This record gives sequence, structure tokens and C-alpha cells, in this order.
Amino acid sequence: MDTGDSGPFTCVVILSVVGLILLLLLAMYAYQRYVASKRPIQHLCDYCGHMVNVVSDCHHAPVKEKFLHGICRDCKKECRLVCARCKRPV
Ligand SMILES: [Zn+2]
Ligand SMILES: [Zn+2]
Repeated sequence: MDTGDSGPFTCVVILSVVGLILLLLLAMYAYQRYVASKRPIQHLCDYCGHMVNVVSDCHHAPVKEKFLHGICRDCKKECRLVCARCKRPV
């Protein structure tokens, strides 16, 4: 092995390994975001007194959650989040 002339080759190997690791981290991050978005977030209902799933107040349908409100999956409009059991705002 001629170690004197392996500079560029080693550089390419290191770059591709770093690139691969970055790609892997990105894929893991994207996967975690995906899993987190699929998992229904539970809220504490004051009336029921424990963690419950939430639904939209307009159609009592599942919601795509935003901060402090949600998008009704039924009518695709903004809605308030209500308890899936007692239909009271959470
Ligand atoms: Zn409730
Ligand atoms: Zn609706």
C-alpha cells in the first residue's frame, strides 16, 4: 500500500461516511416526526379528570392538532378541541 498517494481517496471515504451518517440522522428525525404526528395526543379533561382523546367540536371527528386548536378532519375547517367522552372543551 502506498500511503503517500491516498489523500484524495481517504477524503472521499470520510466525506461519504459523514454524508451517510447525516442521511441516517435525517431519516431517523423524519421517522420520529412521522410517528409523533400519527400518535393521538392525549389531553387532560377537567370534567372526566383523566387523559382523554380529543375530537372536533363541530363534527366530533378526529382532528389534526395545531397549537390550542385543530383542523376538523371531517369538514377541514378550524375547530376547538373537545373531550372525546363528554364533548366538553379541554
Ligand atoms: Zn371529558
Ligand atoms: Zn367539522
